[in-house]
Amino acid sequence: MKRYVHIVPHVHWDREWYFSAEESRILLVNDMEEILEMLETNRDYPYFVLDGQTVVLEDYLSVKPEQKERIRRLVQEGKLIIGPWYTQTDEMVVGGESIVRNLLYGLKDCQEFGEPMQIGYLPDSFGQSAQMPQILNGFGIKRAIFWRGVSERHGTDKTEFYWVSDDGSKVLVQLFPLGYAIGKYLPTDEAKLKERMDKYFSVLDRGATTEHILIPNGHDQMPIQKNIFDVINKLQTLYPERTFFLSRYEHVFEQLEKEEQLPVIRGEFLDGKYMRVHRSIYSTRMDIKAANARIENKVTNVLEPLAAIASTLGFPYEHRLMELIWKEMMKNHAHDSIGCCCSDLVHRDILGRFALAEERTDRLITFYMRKIADAMPSDRSIDKLVVYNTLPYERNEPIEAEITTKWKAFRLVDEHGEPVEFEVVDETIVDPGLIDRQIVHYGNYDPFIRYTIHFRDRIPAMGYKAYVVQEAEQMKTQTPTAVEQIDTPFYTITVNENGTINVYDKQLQRTFRDVLLLEDVGDDGDEYDFSPFAGR
Ligand SMILES: [Zn+2]
Repeated sequence: MKRYVHIVPHVHWDREWYFSAEESRILLVNDMEEILEMLETNRDYPYFVLDGQTVVLEDYLSVKPEQKERIRRLVQEGKLIIGPWYTQTDEMVVGGESIVRNLLYGLKDCQEFGEPMQIGYLPDSFGQSAQMPQILNGFGIKRAIFWRGVSERHGTDKTEFYWVSDDGSKVLVQLFPLGYAIGKYLPTDEAKLKERMDKYFSVLDRGATTEHILIPNGHDQMPIQKNIFDVINKLQTLYPERTFFLSRYEHVFEQLEKEEQLPVIRGEFLDGKYMRVHRSIYSTRMDIKAANARIENKVTNVLEPLAAIASTLGFPYEHRLMELIWKEMMKNHAHDSIGCCCSDLVHRDILGRFALAEERTDRLITFYMRKIADAMPSDRSIDKLVVYNTLPYERNEPIEAEITTKWKAFRLVDEHGEPVEFEVVDETIVDPGLIDRQIVHYGNYDPFIRYTIHFRDRIPAMGYKAYVVQEAEQMKTQTPTAVEQIDTPFYTITVNENGTINVYDKQLQRTFRDVLLLEDVGDDGDEYDFSPFAGR
């Protein structure tokens, strides 16, 4: 069978890993100049794929802003192929919304330069999420390329297939069955070249559904292979039955899309039969994993809904501030970074980015809460407590709030002037200088008290409710009661001495003991793979 071998020049850019982002940026400045020069000066060198992520451009242009026009010209000529992602995201550890935003901001970045690559290109992500076709289709992307997680155990031994999400979204997949680096530094020595290519061709030919196969020519942070034409000439001599040429991924898809009988596969890809998927990284550096989940939740479930509420009241929705938060997080969402399979130095950088993203988030949340509270048509001198519900349905739940005051006692009054019952669960003395430096400046050192209170009320969907806080003669509060047992129509839950719980399942008529017991054990493996200690 005749074979057309598409050699696609690219670089895979791990922004940080066992080296820092600062170290890789120095390489990038050097590598980019060589790539741009090759594309500009060699007519026969048609394309270069910039790893499907725009952060590479951002990093480069922050050092060489004068090169922007050059890059724009090459993108518009279709030679330098950029996007669609912002970073080479992990798919299994980060939240779904983060993956959506990664595409959103990556595609937005591309607008400054030209057309993005319309391929869900994830050459190194450690396993593929079942919802990826749905996310890609949401942006009009119908093609995907990846490597890790697939084997014939999913239902086909072919390297091209349609991948379908539960909602029916569908992308055409071109796999890298041997990874994205098989074409790195191809040798011009004929014997060595033949030895390498024979191994590749047997696998690539076996999986191919058409006459067209792919050799990605590039590797991690490696410079462009300048003598690729010598290599192609040698290949042509060694394998006369094949045609070799420089190409781009789209050209292979155009051929595949003519095929009518491609396999159809559903679900996630996490099979480690032929390549590592690094499942153990899910639990490496729990402080970093927990920081990510916490900030993702704050941004999507608190900040952005609050900003939406504020915008209905006429306040600006600060898109650019949100983008800065997301981009700081998405630098951490790169597969090695959030995988936490990096050096300690890099993990410190990751925590630093999360600290920055969280500070920006917290301050913007406070800003919007103040704006909304100040906009209420009441006397501004009234002390208000405002409770927000940023979920799209009404909630009637216990509410925890903080009230910081100098009063020894206060009461809460709702919008109808009715008192609201609450219980005080904590009181902390707060230095007045931390509340208002002006007060201390004028010699008033009386401390404030920060009360943590609990009460219950209905709060409308995507809305808020305001209460007036008034000074009182004495605090009328309920006494907190310790809960020893929770009963629902389905479960009875009791708390054990050591903090674990016992759950009685009324349907199964069965008790599960010591639920939520955390086991703390040593790990004799590395950051990728857990290994128990020998003899344990
Ligand atoms: Zn990588």
